[in-house]
Amino acid sequence: MPKLNENYLNVQDSYLFAEIARRVKVYEENNPDKAGNIIRLGIGDVTRPLTKSAIDGLHKAVDEQAVSETFKGYGPEQGYVFVREAVSDYYKRNGVSVDPDAVFISDGAKSDTGNITELFAKDNVILVPDPVYPVYVDTNTMDGKKIIYMNGTEENNFLPMPDDSVKADIIYLCSPNNPTGACYSREQLKAWVDYALANEAVILFDSAYEAFVSEPELPRSIYEVEGAERCAIEFCSLSKTAGFTGTRFSYTVVPKELVFTVSDGRQLSLHDMWNRRQSTKFNGTPYIIQYAAAQVLTEQGMKECMGNISYYMENARVIAETLKKKNIPFTGGVNSPYIWFKCPNGMESWELFDYLLENIQVVGTPGAGFGVNGKNHFRLTSFGTHEKTKEAMERFDRLF
Ligand SMILES: *Cc1c(COP(=O)(O)O)cnc(C)c1O
Repeated sequence: MPKLNENYLNVQDSYLFAEIARRVKVYEENNPDKAGNIIRLGIGDVTRPLTKSAIDGLHKAVDEQAVSETFKGYGPEQGYVFVREAVSDYYKRNGVSVDPDAVFISDGAKSDTGNITELFAKDNVILVPDPVYPVYVDTNTMDGKKIIYMNGTEENNFLPMPDDSVKADIIYLCSPNNPTGACYSREQLKAWVDYALANEAVILFDSAYEAFVSEPELPRSIYEVEGAERCAIEFCSLSKTAGFTGTRFSYTVVPKELVFTVSDGRQLSLHDMWNRRQSTKFNGTPYIIQYAAAQVLTEQGMKECMGNISYYMENARVIAETLKKKNIPFTGGVNSPYIWFKCPNGMESWELFDYLLENIQVVGTPGAGFGVNGKNHFRLTSFGTHEKTKEAMERFDRLF
């Protein structure tokens, strides 16, 4: 009989979106007359179609695969050089220098933030914010690793800062944040980098929402902070930037400077380890997708993406305006597609979920699903249409 990885017993059921779907279904069955009225502002998935650059790139690459002269089989496990250079150029246009050799192309930031745990031993002190994107917690739990939570609260604007009394080895940060929409300032990120360098810790920085940063003084990459190349791995993805949630393309930067001494005194490079890991377990993202992604990462391609992002951010503005009018405290909505607000009238997040569903047929995401610090907060997303978002917020305005 196989001995199973019993750490899976400690992974919580992914209950959040299943429970939301269940409650909506029950409501629809009991209120068939109102079922057509439901507006969903809960799911973190995009709705705008791919841009012209992406579509033209896909078509061109498909045609290349149709003839033997340009047909491509297995590609490099790290991604084609042309797209690693396109990522590096994209960074450069944002004022950040990233060596194309440090860039690893993958099929998702979810895969990479999850798989990176393999490079670290079990007995690390791992810091994870709460509330949080559940992948960081679940993947470490599956590995049997112990997590220490740092609290995101109204007091720190949901941006936990380093605590010198805690000696962490690995730190997860996500900015702009899912679910809170909060975004670290440059000074705050510098404090994290300084802490990591002083403690020889590694920061795992998830910048999946960097393209939504609209305030120019806010950092879009941790490498905007000096010294970060000596302590940070960055994960980014075209999922939210370019609507690639179903197309699948991401990139992870593992600088060559990340070298640590192991128990027998030898040096190990995280870059070399990740390269070995990917070469062994991964055969790359499809050529067709990489080619399209390289078109998306050009100046013209990004200009088109910004058109879609502006569309979403107009929704965020409508949501934020309504909350301001009602004096409901919130974070996000300016540099992030998410708006995270305090449940009115002392409600808990699942209570507010039911209240909104029953009274105005608006579906959001209860903060409790992202950690204990989300118990009294609620997430709305701006990934809907203008019409539905406006209608939802007019109903919200009448309700409170
Ligand atoms: C959506 C999202 C990602 C992107 O994941 P993909 O696997 O690239 O689609 C990464 N991190 C966070 C926090 C996200 O919300």
